[in-house]
Amino acid sequence: DSAVADRTVDSVCPYCGVGCQLTYHVKDDAPHAAGSAPSNAEAGRILFVTGRNGPSNQGRLCVKGRFGFDYPNHPARLTRPLIRLEGVPKGVDPDFDPAEPLTHFREASWEEALDLAAEGLTSLKASNGPEALAGFGSAKCSNEEAWLFQKLVRTGFGSNHVDHCTRLCHASSVAALMECLGSGAVTASFMQALEADVVVLTGCNPAVNHPVAATYFKQAARNGTRLIILDPRGQALDAYAWRSVRFTPGGDVALLNAMLNVIVAEGLYDQAYIDTHTEGFAALAASVVDMTPEAMSPLCGVSPGTIREIARAYATADKAMIFWGMGISQHTHGTDNARCLISLALACGQTGRPGTGLHPLRGQNNVQGASDAGLIPMVLPDYQPVGDAQLRAAFEELWNTELDPEPGLTVVEIMDAIVAGTIKGMYILGENPAMSDPDLNHARQALASLEHLVVQDLFVTETAQFADVILPATAWAEKDGTVTNTNRQVQMGRAAVAPPGEAKPDWWIIQEMARRFGLGWDYAHPREVFAEMKQGMSSLDHISWERLETEDSVIYPCLAPGAPGEDVVFSDAFPRAGGKAKFSPTRPLPPDEPVDADYPTVLTTGRLLEHWHTGAMTRRSRVLDDLEPEAAASLAPAELGRLGVAPGEPITIATRRGRITLTARSDPRMPEGMVFVPFAFVEAAANLLTNPALDPYGKIPEFKYAACRLSPA
Ligand code: SF4
Repeated sequence: DSAVADRTVDSVCPYCGVGCQLTYHVKDDAPHAAGSAPSNAEAGRILFVTGRNGPSNQGRLCVKGRFGFDYPNHPARLTRPLIRLEGVPKGVDPDFDPAEPLTHFREASWEEALDLAAEGLTSLKASNGPEALAGFGSAKCSNEEAWLFQKLVRTGFGSNHVDHCTRLCHASSVAALMECLGSGAVTASFMQALEADVVVLTGCNPAVNHPVAATYFKQAARNGTRLIILDPRGQALDAYAWRSVRFTPGGDVALLNAMLNVIVAEGLYDQAYIDTHTEGFAALAASVVDMTPEAMSPLCGVSPGTIREIARAYATADKAMIFWGMGISQHTHGTDNARCLISLALACGQTGRPGTGLHPLRGQNNVQGASDAGLIPMVLPDYQPVGDAQLRAAFEELWNTELDPEPGLTVVEIMDAIVAGTIKGMYILGENPAMSDPDLNHARQALASLEHLVVQDLFVTETAQFADVILPATAWAEKDGTVTNTNRQVQMGRAAVAPPGEAKPDWWIIQEMARRFGLGWDYAHPREVFAEMKQGMSSLDHISWERLETEDSVIYPCLAPGAPGEDVVFSDAFPRAGGKAKFSPTRPLPPDEPVDADYPTVLTTGRLLEHWHTGAMTRRSRVLDDLEPEAAASLAPAELGRLGVAPGEPITIATRRGRITLTARSDPRMPEGMVFVPFAFVEAAANLLTNPALDPYGKIPEFKYAACRLSPA
């Protein structure tokens, strides 16, 4: 029976940061030895997926985890290295058929492709210095691959110009958490919501973006937890909310400071906690004196009475948690937003106990782990600043080389440096900046002007269309490796099937590139990389590869051999000098590009339940693409009426940077004066429209607010 699986393999979902554990049910094309990774000759095919009883999902999966497993078998999957044909111009060619890449590229052996890929980069380094090269790693890869990639950039390229999609996701949250708490990770898992009396969800839409985490919030609400949702848009979880508060887009700092004003003015803060665990409260209290609910209400669009009500509910709860997403982080004031949330928690003593905490919901399945492993330009693994000579020396000893003391450039800064001519060569692993960066015309101009671009991926993505050399890589279900989810749970992923054709594991490809940079790497398996990571990352203390093979998941920090790890942290002290957390006052700032008479509507962008990020995987997954096959813009019914456009008809959206045409969708949860566009669809690429203005601290672009103009197409 072709529908009966020959074997099962336990692993982790490749999509969001919830990190659901799952089981692949595999049909073998050839006999396969149990307990070993399948070889290319043994191939295998995933028939279906079931949820496992993992610590963050307890058997549950969302539609992506359950049905989004077939993209590795898509006919356009890369099976051999490709080299660009002479004379083919670089760019996103509307006539390019990714299933027929040989119109633009020729196939090559691994030896030829790797030699050409590395030689292009080494010669640019030789003639222009280390500053001429940069690399984007990927949160879609394992911890071991992230470690190797940043090590290659730092020790082979010779600079810190290495970054990844955290820059477009929670970089501002991490900047605020590092500044105020001394640690960029969550203080408590989302399962702790079940212990909380009040849960605040702001700038996030978990039913769409973290669906299994959303089930915990629903369960908590059913058990009596007061759910407070703060967002410009409505969402499915509103049905479970005690209060759902819609605020003016960009009005979050005003709203949160008004809540702090109420807490200070009414003496609702926790003086004992503040005295023991924090510093800077007096400055915070002074800074919010004039930001009364009455003063902030015109800026945030929330009535003074509602502001007082939700501030009192949060402050007087015995146990309260705050969760946030990219509605908070993706602003030019994203770091200020996160600072406000941290101030709320510190003022009210809502960290360090079960049912309390601060939790930025992470996007990609390994964005926490990739960040921990050092895919960040200003810090080494475990967030050790590159400019700290003592900390840097430890890595110089581990890697037996001298490291650059200067912080590298971030994602958008690298694109600017390419256009300015200082960065000339790039190695991009598993990221798709030709779809994910803001102001795509600028980003694509940058990619086209690179003298040498190496792309490592599963498909000829939009970014790979700019490449000189494309290296065929391995999908998540085809590799062994560890990942770290939003809860700080380090989990074991296992190869279920073999990669097709000559595609190779990412760690193997990075090592081959490193060897061509003269680095004498000789890892035989990711477990050897993990062992090296443990030498440089104290966060992995008491977590071994062998332990993860047996237990599947261990949370960090883990304080003793065999202990499960700390679900809730910072009960006694924060990892800052003196052990105290810090308040960081803020003031409301307008968006970088406010709406005006020419561009009167707010554009916001994001994901859909069925499509993940730039769509590279989910648009090649049959069920998911059947569920959401076309790009659509969501607008309030009244907004459509004003435009004279019926649902299903085309509209054009224009900003100062570009225009797209796509189908209009009526969505009663949208506020008037705003349009939402998902960024997964190349035929109506949302990021042609977005504003590249950066938060000054996290260097994250303002994806959540751009001024646009709507018209019938
Ligand atoms: Fe995968 Fe996230 Fe869905 Fe879980 S909630 S199945 S991790 S996409």
